[in-house]
Amino acid sequence: MAATAIPIDTLPSIDPATGEVYAHFETTPASQLQDIVFRARNAQSEWAKLPIRERCAKLRGLRERIMASRNELADAVVRESGKPRVEALFADIFVALDSAEYWSRNAENALRTRRVPHHSTAAKAKSGYLAYDPLGVIAIISSWNYPLAIPIGQIIPAVAAGNAVVCKTSDFTPQCGALIEKLFADAGFPKEVVKIVQGGAEVGQALIDGSPDKVMFTGSVGTGRRVAEACAKKLIPSVLELGGKDAMIVLADADLRVASSAAVWGSYTNCGQVCLSLERLFVEQAVAQEFIALCVGKTKKLRVGPGNNPSSDVGPLIRPQHVRRMMDLVDDALSRGANVLCGGSARPELGPNFFEPTVISAVDASMKLFQEETFGPILAIQVVKDAKEAIAQANDSPFALAASIWTRNKARGMELAKELRAGAVMVNDAISYFGIAEAPHGGCGASGWGRTHGQAGLLEMVRMKYIDIDGLPRSEKPWWYRYGAELERAADAFLQFEFSGGIGAKLRNARSAMKTFFRDHGL
Ligand code: NAD
Repeated sequence: MAATAIPIDTLPSIDPATGEVYAHFETTPASQLQDIVFRARNAQSEWAKLPIRERCAKLRGLRERIMASRNELADAVVRESGKPRVEALFADIFVALDSAEYWSRNAENALRTRRVPHHSTAAKAKSGYLAYDPLGVIAIISSWNYPLAIPIGQIIPAVAAGNAVVCKTSDFTPQCGALIEKLFADAGFPKEVVKIVQGGAEVGQALIDGSPDKVMFTGSVGTGRRVAEACAKKLIPSVLELGGKDAMIVLADADLRVASSAAVWGSYTNCGQVCLSLERLFVEQAVAQEFIALCVGKTKKLRVGPGNNPSSDVGPLIRPQHVRRMMDLVDDALSRGANVLCGGSARPELGPNFFEPTVISAVDASMKLFQEETFGPILAIQVVKDAKEAIAQANDSPFALAASIWTRNKARGMELAKELRAGAVMVNDAISYFGIAEAPHGGCGASGWGRTHGQAGLLEMVRMKYIDIDGLPRSEKPWWYRYGAELERAADAFLQFEFSGGIGAKLRNARSAMKTFFRDHGL
């Protein structure tokens, strides 16, 4: 059932399992974004003055709030994203809790001012330090598919580092957005320090126009490009977490029982609507037949249904146009010689957005299924001669988010992981690194740039400042005025002392080089 009359200034919250609108949420007028960013900036200057320990204490409060309201949160995630409740708990709620836990314990140490040892003789009398300042106001623009894990996992390190955040959650998940705002407010964060704004492209664009100090964007390649252009016009730095086309490489020595379960789960979890979905599966010829049969057998046993039914394994796609897209991808693959081994059809009797988990073999690089992000429950398989061919095929993609290799030989897995063009490679697991707080997440090429999560993700939220304390405050520096032939000779001696190599050259030039330090500047 589709919504009939949706008020213009509100966002409908639609259940993808039924197509029903069950609530409306107020849209933030785009005209208010400038003012919202301005107020966030004012609040940030006070927030940043709090000792980091106090900011982290608030994160512990946040973790308690998330834990206490996990059932309500999981219900909202299921209702708006369609995923089975187990996935809401294991992915969204877990990542949100773990991020609060991890950064409440580790942000202080990670952002502690640290010493930078100097190797050069010219800099030995100086003490170097790295300090980390907050950026100011960070704009977070999020996708709908992990409506809690993604925004909360970015807001937490941003505020721990002393920033204010204006976050636009997806227009597909307004209830989750409203709940995020409430969680932070209830945990005692000033309301202007974590502000959620609601709306679609127009509000996202207005948020960037409001001149935040950084934009953390998660979404599709097309929108990412528009966001990057808008940021470039204002010289706003950005992190872009875009689509993926992750390869899974199954070597002949893999445990096929485990690898086939991984292939099935990794292709259909969240109905395949995961940036880290296994979208291109390469299996070595020697085990292909057995492996594919296992995948088909396991896929046929999966139960498709609404996420609020505990027996559902695979939920609906998010909107009807996504169902149409799956059919188009299947048709394209069939017309180019692929084989649908199971699934391949919509399931309208279950609801408007259901599509069967589908195994397709004989897929190759000529097909849309291997070129474009699938973002749906299709396990697309290509049989390859050997690992070398698998790596070459896997790397032949504009996307480069993550990949996985399946082998009993860990050393070989490590070796091959280094050959893959990806931001992360898992050996004998897939996707789950996203839930490891220490693991940086992000890709290159069409998958975007920058990182979230881990120390690298935290450093995206700060401005690095080098502080140099000179140990000889009563001395003029040798390289200052006035110049002359004698200083030129001394400079050359210094270069030879420093870079000629060998103890002889050092000894020969030490005296002349030292002269540069103890000369009369004559000014
Ligand atoms: P989307 O690009 O449609 O929307 C993402 C966000 O951008 C939404 O909040 C949307 O309202 C907003 N937006 C749209 N137009 C905008 C504009 N012109 N200016 C500013 N904001 C704008 O993506 P989606 O459908 O929500 O999410 C699915 C995509 O996200 C997939 O491609 C998926 O792979 C990707 N994704 C990537 C990661 C990652 O970490 N790399 C994680 C999750 C999802």
